[in-house]
Amino acid sequence: METILVLAHTENDGSLAKPVREALHAAATLHKSLAGSKLVIGLVGENVQAAANAIAASPATKYFGVIGADFTHARYATDAAAAEAICKAAQATIVVAPATSRWARVLPGVAQRLGGRVDTHVTGVVAADGKISVSRWYYRQRMEGALTRAQRPWILGIDPGSQTACDCNAGTAAVEMVVVNLTDASKRTTVIGIREPKADAQTIRPDAQLLFVTGAGWTKKQADGQTHVPEAEKLILGFLKQARASLGSSKSLVDQSGEGQAVLPFLSHLNQVGQTGATPRHAKGLSTCCHGEEPHTVGWRFIAERRAISLDPNCGWARGKADVLYVADAFAVIAKVNELLAAQNQPL
Ligand SMILES: Cc1cc2nc3c(=O)[nH]c(=O)nc-3n(C[C@H](O)[C@H](O)[C@H](O)COP(=O)(O)OP(=O)(O)OC[C@H]3O[C@@H](n4cnc5c(N)ncnc54)[C@H](O)[C@@H]3O)c2cc1C
Repeated sequence: METILVLAHTENDGSLAKPVREALHAAATLHKSLAGSKLVIGLVGENVQAAANAIAASPATKYFGVIGADFTHARYATDAAAAEAICKAAQATIVVAPATSRWARVLPGVAQRLGGRVDTHVTGVVAADGKISVSRWYYRQRMEGALTRAQRPWILGIDPGSQTACDCNAGTAAVEMVVVNLTDASKRTTVIGIREPKADAQTIRPDAQLLFVTGAGWTKKQADGQTHVPEAEKLILGFLKQARASLGSSKSLVDQSGEGQAVLPFLSHLNQVGQTGATPRHAKGLSTCCHGEEPHTVGWRFIAERRAISLDPNCGWARGKADVLYVADAFAVIAKVNELLAAQNQPL
């Protein structure tokens, strides 16, 4: 009989982030299809009661918590100790955890300590005939593999954005506290503050409906023989602001900063989409001034509806990689779209 543990940490304000609800959805679905299984939840944070209450109507039968100021911030030693203690207290055989940046660096170590196994980047968990199988993508999202394991505990890091979030309602949850005896050595690292970009400077928005991708064409010489980088910057930022889209880029464009050419200052390698970049998940994607080459379009694997604007009717997007290709000048199209969005004040 499997005991399925949803292992999560709270945010610094005590709330639960969306990836936790996604992991909970995956675990609850697995629990439903696995006769005789138990579903329990383990939470780590300064105080976890509010978080447990927020999902109290989930099908979980028990809640475990590790709390205290030592568990407010991400820190490998204390997070690993807390996760290990909860897994043991719950006698978990399957651990379903959101692969947040905080958890992703802790889970493999926890599996090692427990003598278990871990699989990362899990995008699906199913049970058939009493056997659990997980799926994940290989070779930069080109091939999907399904695998099973006999070893327990089996820890699964669920890729954020790959599941629907559970909408289990709030209530009152009884949380069983698990005591973790920390050594001084495990508290050597202290968080003294958080530096992050201002909200309006944050261009990567995983929850956005639309991914807006910019390519090298924005910085190339245009019909008048000149480059128009300041105008490109204004158009792109104007579009992002009004459409509340997430910003992606082709490798060529982000690489230009390293080559000392005129670049768009708000782009970094974190924006790069593709084989050597990210594979974000959004309902829609709009590529502008990109060629649509294979290593770039690999990053579009999980974009549901793809559109592209390029001057070149023979570009890669035209060869079946985009659902809709506009053979047009992106400067003119985005200027017009921005004008229409401003008039409607409507996000896409
Ligand atoms: C091993 C390997 C890994 C790689 N990994 C990645 C990766 O992870 N991500 C990635 O992006 N690339 C990757 N690449 C590079 C990739 O193959 C392409 O070279 C790159 O994505 C092309 O970028 P681009 O489309 O921005 O530029 P270009 O190929 O220069 O295309 C610019 C486009 O802009 C259009 N254009 C110009 N002006 C306008 C205008 N006014 N309006 C509309 N369109 C206009 C042009 O017609 C052209 O199609 C990789 C390559 C290799 C070999």
